[in-house]
Amino acid sequence: MENYKHILLAVDFYEHSEAVANRANDLAIKYQAKLSIIHVVDSMPITDATYGADIPFNMDLTTELMAGAKTRLAKLAEKLYVPKDRLWLEMGSPKIEIIRVAKENKVDLIVVGSHGRHGLALILGSTANGVLHHANCDVLAVRLRDD
Ligand code: AMP
Repeated sequence: MENYKHILLAVDFYEHSEAVANRANDLAIKYQAKLSIIHVVDSMPITDATYGADIPFNMDLTTELMAGAKTRLAKLAEKLYVPKDRLWLEMGSPKIEIIRVAKENKVDLIVVGSHGRHGLALILGSTANGVLHHANCDVLAVRLRDD
């Protein structure tokens, strides 16, 4: 098997996302691969809690969510030494956007967590499951436990 050249970390900023980020970073170092990071602001957000922002009732929710996500993405990128041109902040369906960005940027490995916000009760979260079934490249689901 050839070395991976371009790894895409899909991050939801949920509680276990640091473990997923660390695994993606370790793999990028091991394979001397480029590391990109994607976060998708769900077009139907349920809560803003993961972005750490208090949103006043009458504010433009979308703008605020994007701004909060941008800040968190920039912080993570700084920590992992990922340049700006390899950061993807998208809006829409996480599964669809992750697969699209991976395809358009010749990603050969996508790293996701086994679950996140949507999948606490499932073995594999809905986004992880969707990416695994529809991506054109390898997908690593980092096993996350809730204990
Ligand atoms: P879930 O489907 O919510 O259980 O999430 C499973 C995994 O998919 C997470 O651990 C992330 O790696 C990825 N993921 C979920 N939601 C997003 C999102 N909005 N943006 C980027 N990655 C996500």
